[in-house]
Amino acid sequence: MSNVNKRAMGLGMQRSIIRDLFEFGMKRVAEVGAENVFDFSIGNPSVPAPSSVNETAIRLLQEMDPVAIHGYTSAQGDKDARRRIAESIGKSFGYTISPDSLYIATGAAGALCGCLNGLLNPGEEVIVFAPYFPEYKVFIEGAGGKMQLIPADIEHFQIDFERFEAVLSSNTKAVLINSPNNPSGAVYSEDTIRRLAQILKDKSEEFGHVIYLISDEPYRAIAFDGVKVPWVPSYYGNTLVCYSWSKALSLPGERIGYVAVPDEMEDHDEVYAAVAGASRSLGYVCPPSLFQRVCAMCAEDTSDISVYETNRNILVKGLRDLGFTCVEPEGTFYMFPQTLIPDDLAFCEKAKDFDLLIVPGSGFGCPGHTRISYCVPTERAERSLEAFAKLAAFYK
Ligand code: PLP
Repeated sequence: MSNVNKRAMGLGMQRSIIRDLFEFGMKRVAEVGAENVFDFSIGNPSVPAPSSVNETAIRLLQEMDPVAIHGYTSAQGDKDARRRIAESIGKSFGYTISPDSLYIATGAAGALCGCLNGLLNPGEEVIVFAPYFPEYKVFIEGAGGKMQLIPADIEHFQIDFERFEAVLSSNTKAVLINSPNNPSGAVYSEDTIRRLAQILKDKSEEFGHVIYLISDEPYRAIAFDGVKVPWVPSYYGNTLVCYSWSKALSLPGERIGYVAVPDEMEDHDEVYAAVAGASRSLGYVCPPSLFQRVCAMCAEDTSDISVYETNRNILVKGLRDLGFTCVEPEGTFYMFPQTLIPDDLAFCEKAKDFDLLIVPGSGFGCPGHTRISYCVPTERAERSLEAFAKLAAFYK
């Protein structure tokens, strides 16, 4: 019997429902053709990066010193890139942050791991709200912490504050939020953020230590109908923002994001050092240097997110007409309707009979729902309604 780390081995061997669906999809694509498989399983952006990304990459490759362009930057990221990101935060949110308070991270995943490992002492708790991105549990436990899950507010996918306050305790080190949300597509309203901030201020004072807010925001730029996503540090200074351009610029494979540690954060220098030190110990230093620069130069651009909004409109209306209950997503490229039977695992398994690949809500801590990733060509979203109709008819 091998003597490797059991937790790591367990994670490496775990079957993933999404990967299983992916493999099933590949098999069906070979049998019936890609256009007849409705793969709503994975959150891979379906629209290309804006032309500014390619233009900037090409220009940098042509103009920059050919050795420096691929060389190491400083561990916390290229200084000029951090300056540009700080400027962009100032411009977008009217919020001043020093470039030295930014840590360029290996995507939002690297940003989250840097924050969690930097903040948590063994056994400390992090509160997460369902439905949640399942990697949070892996990241929190990997950092030695314990995840406390608050059940979902399924009516609006905001925060169930009553349940939240019942779980907050002196052992709570941090609260982790994700808005716009994967999987519900909900955007936390300004009221929600304000109320959350007030509770965290009150409880930090009561317990005599800071409760950090970690705001995971890879979908911040993908909001519809002019909905504004609040800049959380403006409401609560002890917020660590974890951002990435994976979704906004359709660059998930380039692995660039950042952690912002607001200048006003209590013990700012210690917290920044802890994030940097934790990232270092995880090997998350100097993310890909060309794309640090490209992302910083295109910080406020986005891919054509109108495609996601169009798909949302088609699917929300189409599914409601078929009898599904669905909170309308305000952002991301996910929706999270209720399944037509309580058993979401059985429901998603049955959906495969109609070549519909959708993910059970149980994995997101919210049974009785299913996640539909509508980052697909619009004509595929349209044609999928026929398959959804057959699925609905099966349960009539
Ligand atoms: N957080 C959420 C909510 C996500 O959905 C994802 C990716 O899908 C991540 C973090 C990781 O993002 P990145 O690819 O930038 O590491």
